Amino acid sequence: MDPLAFYKIPFMGLKAGKHEFQMDVDQEFFTHFPESEIEDAKGVVDVVLDYSETNMVLKMNMNLNWKVPCGRCLEELNYDLQREEQIAIQYGEETVIGEDLWTLGKNEIELDLAQTVLEMAHLARPTHQVHENESDCDQKMLGYFRTDKEESERPIDPRWDALKNL
Ligand SMILES: [Zn+2]
Repeated sequence: MDPLAFYKIPFMGLKAGKHEFQMDVDQEFFTHFPESEIEDAKGVVDVVLDYSETNMVLKMNMNLNWKVPCGRCLEELNYDLQREEQIAIQYGEETVIGEDLWTLGKNEIELDLAQTVLEMAHLARPTHQVHENESDCDQKMLGYFRTDKEESERPIDPRWDALKNL
């Protein structure tokens, strides 16, 4: 079975009007996308599909909690990933997925929202994933990183250079 089948909405045969769906998102979801920069996020996406035979309006409301190590000290940080999208959907000859307008070709029978959920989660991320103030970081870890860096940057002892010339 398609592990992402849960993120597909078959729209053929729906009654005209609003239909609500709730999609759970968890760590497992992100394992299906090797390119994902999010691994540990969990929550729901509420979907409302306003269906008619001539067009559709898709509203998605995402609410996830994301756990990610601080980029400076690796301590776990928690972020809320919140985002809303509204997408107009029309029918046409060929399928064209635009940013907020999708055209569905004649052979399409379902909406596949997995990729959209993935993109929404990435767009909802804060720009910097670090403790707001460096003083909030795990100072012990920062200490380790500094030592590492200083050692690799330390110039070669000039006495060794002198030996090489012997
Ligand atoms: Zn930190």
